[in-house]
Amino acid sequence: MSVVSTPAVLLRSFNYSETSRVLRLYTKDLGLVSVMAKGVRRSSARGHGALDTFSRGELTAYVRPTRDLQTFKEFAVEEAGGSLGRDVLRFAGASVLAEIVLLHAAPDPSPQVFERLTNALRRIDTEPLAGIVGAVLAEGWMLVATLGYEPHIDRCVHCGKTLDATEVLRFDFSAGGVRCSGCGSDHSGPRVGPGARQQLATLLRGTVPEVLGKPRAHLRLLHDFVTYHISGSKPLKTFKIFGSVAGLDE
Ligand SMILES: [Zn+2]
Repeated sequence: MSVVSTPAVLLRSFNYSETSRVLRLYTKDLGLVSVMAKGVRRSSARGHGALDTFSRGELTAYVRPTRDLQTFKEFAVEEAGGSLGRDVLRFAGASVLAEIVLLHAAPDPSPQVFERLTNALRRIDTEPLAGIVGAVLAEGWMLVATLGYEPHIDRCVHCGKTLDATEVLRFDFSAGGVRCSGCGSDHSGPRVGPGARQQLATLLRGTVPEVLGKPRAHLRLLHDFVTYHISGSKPLKTFKIFGSVAGLDE
């Protein structure tokens, strides 16, 4: 067993007993870790707790590589997650990104994913409320790309042809990108018109289009893509909650 300190962000926690909590964090040096924090419920009751979801700081834990659950020593918070928790839309949006990372479950740590995720949470914390849906979509696609699943939207994933800017395409989840109008005519994937494709390209660069058309369709596309490539076809609860809080329900 060794004592390890690493930058970390708290993504989820749940009570384990009267006094303890299990924390799930994404860390820069260890990737996704679960730690058992004994006695923290008692200490947070005394006002020392800074274990708010989305807090960023330095985690110190006793780590045994063969174990799934490590032992918590300390979490020195540098940026409290409390402000995200005070707004339901921001919290729901941040939860979407957290769930993508939690479900990805990659065995190897990725400092790039850590950077991407913590920058995304900062952006969702500070973005004006009217821009939260766009920010979550942009950060969601960039996170997916950083995890290694960037969708291909410049060429047809089936025949390889360069796509015409005016073409109506079909999204092919299993191939991880779009099909041209010819290859897409008998494909059942969602239709991607010229406007939607341009908006998706903008979101993939991390920018929000000035007028974000059909945000509900964009959210569904991101959800279905994540479901296909990352979550092992398990639907993501946070997308539904976020869509509902953002007023994007059917
Ligand atoms: Zn084609």
